[in-house]
Amino acid sequence: MNAPIATKVACFNCGSEQTRVFYRIDDIPVHSCLLMPSREAAVGYPRGELQLAVCDTCGFVQNSAFDPTVHEYSTRYEETQAFSPRFNRFVDELVARYDQMIGLAGKSVLEIGCGKGEFLVRMCEVGGCRGIGIDPGYRPERTNSPAADRIEFIQDFYSERYTHLQADIVICRHTLEHIQPTREFMQMVRRSIGDRPNTVVCFELPDLERVLEYQGFWDIYYEHCSYFSMGSLARLFRSCGFDVFALEKVYDGQYLLIDARPVDVPTSASLPQEDDLQHIRDLVARFEVDLPRTAARWRDTFQRAKQQGKKTAIWGSGSKAVAFMTSLGLGSEVDAVTDINPYRQGMFMPGTGHRIVPPAELATLRPDLVVAMNPIYLEEIGADLKKMGLTPELMAV
Ligand SMILES: [Zn+2]
Repeated sequence: MNAPIATKVACFNCGSEQTRVFYRIDDIPVHSCLLMPSREAAVGYPRGELQLAVCDTCGFVQNSAFDPTVHEYSTRYEETQAFSPRFNRFVDELVARYDQMIGLAGKSVLEIGCGKGEFLVRMCEVGGCRGIGIDPGYRPERTNSPAADRIEFIQDFYSERYTHLQADIVICRHTLEHIQPTREFMQMVRRSIGDRPNTVVCFELPDLERVLEYQGFWDIYYEHCSYFSMGSLARLFRSCGFDVFALEKVYDGQYLLIDARPVDVPTSASLPQEDDLQHIRDLVARFEVDLPRTAARWRDTFQRAKQQGKKTAIWGSGSKAVAFMTSLGLGSEVDAVTDINPYRQGMFMPGTGHRIVPPAELATLRPDLVVAMNPIYLEEIGADLKKMGLTPELMAV
């Protein structure tokens, strides 16, 4: 982590030039969710520069040094969380939420950035609706559902080519944070809806406020070029011809949900939680002061364990783990990285090159310290460890 430098890039949300870099990391893997087949490929994976800048006009945070050409969202992209019972409960709560909102039976759903399609499949199974899912990383062999004949999947990026696709509800989960031209993208979504005012548009994405509050540097990585708070997200939607009727935090405050309807003209803020601009400015200032201490504390935790001859493991091998380890410069201080997703096991971590092992291998390693990459999974991780007869110190970021 190096001292911020001044790079001026206009805000992709509102166009303002009042942006300021407040956090910088050189040399982080440009992909943290791709499956790496060998240690050499993982260690040698291309790296990029991250310069987080906050917009003083709208509160949006973006990586000013982001290069969109380096990205590969292919079928090798492994983002699914569907192997966690806790996550699947959340998915069912979301489906129920959207069912309550519009009554899904007989309706059509368009999901932009549907990943492996699990959410869309669940929506169609439970809600009795039809679906279209678009994602370059979709894998047809993973869909096995009685609702499959009501769902069409398109292995591609959403673009102008697909703006003719119409639906009663447009869903976009954990995708907008990967998109640099956020305003252009929302304008395209708005154009695609045209003159159908009853369409609802529902987005879900990580919450910036929480990342700033906890100095959660493990949630800052190259694939995420765009970071939203409730206010900056609502301001973007409103400026692109949407009226925001719901805006909330879910999943222990980790994710934002925004629900909107198309309108003919830009709308003004109407929900109290949109009024967060000064709060975000204050949090950014505090992040700059507190982050070095938070990072040092985590580095010390692992280095001290190593000096004391203790074995350490990280639970979770996705983007958070890659960001956590590469930002701290951890290597041999971490003895194992484990993941419950079988598609990740046997693959290698971009950056550090650790092999991802199945949790069962921890029974042999017998770690003294396990650090979970998301506190929401502590309970199920604790239960899994206990089943293997392990009682390490268990912490979460
Ligand atoms: Zn802005």
